[in-house]
Amino acid sequence: MNFKKIEEGFVSLFLPANCKICNKPLNPRNRSLICEECWNKVEWLEPPYCSICSKPLPAYETSPKNSFPICRKCEKNSFHFKKVFALTLYEGIMKRIIHIFKYEKKMSVIKGIKKIMEIYFSRNHLPFSHLHMIVPIPLYRRKLKERGFNQAELLARIISKYFNIKLNKNNLKRIKSTQSQTKLSANERIKNVKGVFKVKNGKEFWEKNILLVDDIYTTGATVEEAAKILKRAKAKEIYVFVLARANF
Ligand SMILES: [Zn+2]
Ligand SMILES: [Zn+2]
Repeated sequence: MNFKKIEEGFVSLFLPANCKICNKPLNPRNRSLICEECWNKVEWLEPPYCSICSKPLPAYETSPKNSFPICRKCEKNSFHFKKVFALTLYEGIMKRIIHIFKYEKKMSVIKGIKKIMEIYFSRNHLPFSHLHMIVPIPLYRRKLKERGFNQAELLARIISKYFNIKLNKNNLKRIKSTQSQTKLSANERIKNVKGVFKVKNGKEFWEKNILLVDDIYTTGATVEEAAKILKRAKAKEIYVFVLARANF
């Protein structure tokens, strides 16, 4: 990943600090808390991957002629969303970056994330022109208060600005708190998120093409549950964008 551009345009008002990952001194113009070298180690999601859920696929399972390979899970199941767009792999450095962003609440990291998202958007022709709105996966009230921000909403804002598509952040609600999904199996995750979302005003999603946004996609249980609720509110087509895709 070429991160050269990331440092451009940053004017530092602060004293030089060290990279939150490798601890080397940061270029004073870099305000993303993470050095260029570390950003360059982030792995983009590269083909071959499933054309529906973006799961990375081993090269031997796909024929080079097949531009729409499908993973085994997507062969067997159908989802309420049409397709997942994933920017990076949820591995190595990206795991640490997301951890610093979410759990250490280092908001400056979003500056670097914004840059890599913009690089991704400029390189890929994403079929977003027919979208009516962008909907971030909501946090439960208490969690939002604890963390102070919804990471999915910050990502959704970046997409909304870049493509000039309306952000709709108040109509999909999380009405139950859920336990952390990290230690749960695929089936437990499905149960864990069942009934956690609610649509406030059904009319807002009626016949709309919607991009759901979240930070990480692991089994897809959360976005699938949200997509199901949006479909129930008669949304037309649902797509998903995630910052990082776990190879699960
Ligand atoms: Zn570093
Ligand atoms: Zn798949």
